[in-house]
Amino acid sequence: MTKTDKLTAPLSVLPVYQPDLSGNEKKYVNECLETSWISSLGGFIDRFERAFERETGAKHAHSVSNGTVALHLAYHCLDIGPGDEVIVPTFTYISSVNTIAQTGATPIFVECRSDDWLIDVEDVARKITPRTKAIVPVHLYGAVCDMDALMALAHERNLKVVEDCAEALGSTLNGQHVGTFGDIGTFSFFGNKTVTTGEGGMVTAHDPALAARLKIVKGQGQSPTRRYWHIELGYNYRMTNICAAIGLAQIERLDAILARKRAIGALYRELTADMSLEFQTLRPGVTSSDWLVSLLLPHGVDRDAVMARMSSAGVETRPVFFCAHQMPMYAKNEHFPVSEDIAARGISLPSYPGLSDSDVARVVDELRSAIAGQ
Ligand SMILES: *Cc1c(COP(=O)(O)O)cnc(C)c1O
Repeated sequence: MTKTDKLTAPLSVLPVYQPDLSGNEKKYVNECLETSWISSLGGFIDRFERAFERETGAKHAHSVSNGTVALHLAYHCLDIGPGDEVIVPTFTYISSVNTIAQTGATPIFVECRSDDWLIDVEDVARKITPRTKAIVPVHLYGAVCDMDALMALAHERNLKVVEDCAEALGSTLNGQHVGTFGDIGTFSFFGNKTVTTGEGGMVTAHDPALAARLKIVKGQGQSPTRRYWHIELGYNYRMTNICAAIGLAQIERLDAILARKRAIGALYRELTADMSLEFQTLRPGVTSSDWLVSLLLPHGVDRDAVMARMSSAGVETRPVFFCAHQMPMYAKNEHFPVSEDIAARGISLPSYPGLSDSDVARVVDELRSAIAGQ
């Protein structure tokens, strides 16, 4: 390659995420095709669910078609509906909130903490009313909410807890996996999540009666003992055997995927140590899955300009979530200064397990020059 070639050669693009499908994914999917078990019956569903229970320590895990319906199913099976209030952080992905509204209940927004960006339990306590039915801690970016304080409050006030664990497969607090603290845990297997099935999700529960109901409702409310006899209002929220086949192959490699993601997270923090960036500060006892390594740019830095510069150098980033209380359908002129500040300054960096150490160094170099170019 001549010098000119090098200058004009297109830069390789580092995306924010890219799934690693290098294990048994192809083999298991081919098994579905060869045996024609491609719909929501088939052996991979059960194998994936049992493997998921083993990995998380959840008593009961039921697969569903995505992480959003996992949340809706959870709220529905806790009998949340019109007239009820459900407390949720405003700084979250929109599905934690939309699915509350879809039951007919009212989402009540709370502030997040400036250290770990997660639900502020003191604000939760202030927002509880006689109509409050449930609290939804969201374990964003792999960090874990203050589940000790939150569960104590929930027990004291007799409230249900649904943990949105879409971003936290592999995250633990004092060795206990997320999704096993509250009444129900929900997970997502979208293409950019730690384990992916393309689209997919999981609900976990420890109470056997609640777990049985989750399974019935996700399958059209059909009786477990009598086909085409429907014992309650249900939905078709089932996962396909093809998705479960991919999920099983993914979860077989979960430890390796998590180890690489954590190494990437540690390397980012090390290489940016001199840059006055703010990462999520984990509370004591938390091990993060380092789902998407995210950070707050210094005050006064133009986030969109930094992202545009990095993008033109072939490094994709994404902004953290916007606050739900500012979306048109939920806007009531409320203010949450901590959440709004995080939402305005946060970006997520490329965080997929296939990144090499030199890719990570390249991201940091581009971030450094994009900030300096301000
Ligand atoms: C991804 C995600 C969801 C939704 O999952 P889908 O599988 O995309 O429907 C819900 N909550 C959070 C916090 C998420 O990141």
